[in-house]
Amino acid sequence: MTQRDTEVQLTRYRTERAVLPLTGRSVWLVLDDETLEIMPEARDFALHLNGAGKSENTIRTYLPRVAVFLNWADTSPGCDWRTVTVKQLARFKWHLEARPALVEAATIGGRGERSTRSAGTVNQYLTAVFEFLRYCGRAGLIDQAVSKRLVEPRHLRHMPASFDAGERGQFRFARVKELRARETSRPPETLTAAQVGHTISAAIRIRDAFLLLLLSETGMRIGEALGLRRSDMHFLPDSTTLGCELAGAHVHVVRREDNANGALAKSSHGRHVPVGGEVVRAYRDAQIERESVAHATDSDYVFVNLWAGEIGAPMKYSAAYGLVQRAGRRADVNHLHPHLFRHTAATHWIENDTPIDVAQTLLGHASPASTSRYTHTSNERMRAAVERGAATVKVVE
Ligand SMILES: [Zn+2]
Repeated sequence: MTQRDTEVQLTRYRTERAVLPLTGRSVWLVLDDETLEIMPEARDFALHLNGAGKSENTIRTYLPRVAVFLNWADTSPGCDWRTVTVKQLARFKWHLEARPALVEAATIGGRGERSTRSAGTVNQYLTAVFEFLRYCGRAGLIDQAVSKRLVEPRHLRHMPASFDAGERGQFRFARVKELRARETSRPPETLTAAQVGHTISAAIRIRDAFLLLLLSETGMRIGEALGLRRSDMHFLPDSTTLGCELAGAHVHVVRREDNANGALAKSSHGRHVPVGGEVVRAYRDAQIERESVAHATDSDYVFVNLWAGEIGAPMKYSAAYGLVQRAGRRADVNHLHPHLFRHTAATHWIENDTPIDVAQTLLGHASPASTSRYTHTSNERMRAAVERGAATVKVVE
């Protein structure tokens, strides 16, 4: 028996996906291998997340993390998850940071991370556990005092006694200091100019090349691109006939709640992003390609299905993600995902001395703090700054 098999035997709870026969929706369940039953508290929590409008993806990541916590509590002497203390949760945090992820790999069906976890990942585990305990407290499944003592009281001092941290969990980060892993921010991963060029050239369809070019030049989010309508594309030198005073070609990024493909621009305020001649030409070519497909011009969306799925219907995220990945593979760029174009555009702007407020507006960031993650200064730029200064200094001997 290998070490891993031993670990598998030690875990009591595991996560499994089940499909609801009526709706076809996935639900994530925690199974108790001792009783061979579904763990009721975790099931209620999953249903609660579902009802609170959390995405399937959130539920898919929360439940295995809760199972990891339950297994840890189950194997920790003197620990009962129902009465867990801050001190015990601090030990759980240490366990997450220090231990190889063997038990977790078994719990999540072999998909657990094998290396040590980043502080960000540790915080995501703690958030899931926190939300779980908070839910159990409010639902009367455990003593409410258990989840209350995990919250830093200074955040709650002026709140009424019946204070609820909210369905959106907006106060979940007020957890006590012992239960926060300190995250060090790394500059976001980016593509080289050659990688961007190769990926765009590797797109087989003109529509796909246009999407990649648009993402890389405007830095817009993939959800924003998929929500674009043809009426948002102001590609004439002068848009006054369209009722727009802005000069030069540009795209309007508008938040719409009713997009048929579920695309949603993240910022609540609209913005516009100027575009260059290459984007304008690629868009025209993509329009010609689109007109060659029957029924493809019926909808006003810019990005529609042309060769697969319901022809003419707005493209969904999964289709866009797939085309980005395929283009990446052909261009030898591993693990390409749409957001990398945004990171690359933002980093490129900052490195070329774009003022941070301009970059913030282009990216549609509500707060400059989001933009500042791109201001990581490279050693070369620091050297250049010192050398520029050195040129003005006269050495007196
Ligand atoms: Zn306009």
